[in-house]
Amino acid sequence: LEALRTRFLGLHTTYRLANGRQARRIYLDSAASNLLWEPAARVAYQALQHYANTHSQLHFGARIMTALYAEAHQVVLDFLQADNRYTAIFCGYGVTACLNRIARVLARRRPDRDVVITTIMEHHANDLPHRKHVGRVVHVPVEKDPDGEAGKVDMARLQEAITRHADRLNYVAITAASNVTGIVNPVHEIARMAHAVGAYVVVDAAQSAAHLPLAVDPGDPEAALDVVVLSGHKIYTPGSPGVLVARKELFLGQEPEEVGGGIVSFVDTTRYEILPHLPEREEAGTPNLLGAIALGATLRLLQHIGMDLIAEDERRLTQYALDRLSRIPRLHIYGSHRLEIAERIGVITFNLYDLPHGLVTAALNDYFGIAVRNECFCAQPFVRQLLGIADAEGRAPDSCLDTCTPREQPGMVRISLGLYNTTDDIDAAVEALTDLARRPDFYRQQYEPVPGSR
Ligand code: PMP
Repeated sequence: LEALRTRFLGLHTTYRLANGRQARRIYLDSAASNLLWEPAARVAYQALQHYANTHSQLHFGARIMTALYAEAHQVVLDFLQADNRYTAIFCGYGVTACLNRIARVLARRRPDRDVVITTIMEHHANDLPHRKHVGRVVHVPVEKDPDGEAGKVDMARLQEAITRHADRLNYVAITAASNVTGIVNPVHEIARMAHAVGAYVVVDAAQSAAHLPLAVDPGDPEAALDVVVLSGHKIYTPGSPGVLVARKELFLGQEPEEVGGGIVSFVDTTRYEILPHLPEREEAGTPNLLGAIALGATLRLLQHIGMDLIAEDERRLTQYALDRLSRIPRLHIYGSHRLEIAERIGVITFNLYDLPHGLVTAALNDYFGIAVRNECFCAQPFVRQLLGIADAEGRAPDSCLDTCTPREQPGMVRISLGLYNTTDDIDAAVEALTDLARRPDFYRQQYEPVPGSR
């Protein structure tokens, strides 16, 4: 781990800051996309010496690319400890493509089951595709601790919703870890609850895959996950492949959602026959070879180090960051402080005093070279609820539809960790935020209008 954590592309890049100082960038925005792992990117780059279309089949390059592409599928399955009941399908770009695909597939498979249960803590990608393609989406709230701070999904309310919608429930769509609070959900327990009423469980592992071990089947068939989706750009991989790992039966017995070249055995002007086997029949068109091969190499490296070790290492740094950040005056961290560190990943979201989140984010970058993300992290319902500007059902006031000016745009600042981060990075962020808390007027004067406002 120590040998590999320094070998990320762009880790040593420097930028000239607003005060003229040339500084190494400090990358604390891994929840958006993490930096690319140089050894894995190199494997993919070497493979490109043979670059050819997998569909050409018979020349050396095409054969090598086809074999490497097939191997990438197997590596993904191995990474999630999925046996031959499962298939891995490369879907396009990121988890968004995967979740749109699975929503369409499951809606068509069981049209009488037009309800999806999800949670208020989801990324828009694990909410809007279900609304668009399946039908009614029920948003289950999160737990509140005695301080009123948000935790994981409220399991009692989830059970109530599952029971209430048992007959029409198609699937439960749940994130393995929140991209806003970093809090982890018990996905296998949720699978058991969904399966008890004949529903599937779809797990969004975009945020957790590079940070926590996850096995589709924990050794209990009732708790085995039906679908898991991954995003390469959040697993240190270029080319941003999205992969959907699913029980094969979900994709058999009905025509693929996407049709075209490479998935048919026969076509004339009136008929066509789709290939019988997976994943080929679900991967029409020329694949994202760079992304798939690089993802395979990355996952092998992660496995080689061991996901338990990686998770343990991140917990230490997350605890260090939480301890230090919570000492900064008037810095409010969202999400429960009472959870065990094992119940969260290295995603910490906060606001500082009454400073706009855009200003804090711009100042961290411009004056300190620290890259973080702000706004709503594509999870508007959750962020509004955490900020107290949505009702218990997650509905925003109508005024937000057209009168919320960008200046008033609700939001937060997010620090998120990757394998390359160290206590030095956290110390730098703490020092910077302490300075912002100490001299807010200095930073306010530097920014007019507030960054992010039009
Ligand atoms: N789900 C979660 C939890 C995420 O954090 C993200 C990315 N921010 C997505 C889904 C969407 O992933 P992608 O951008 O790869 O489609």
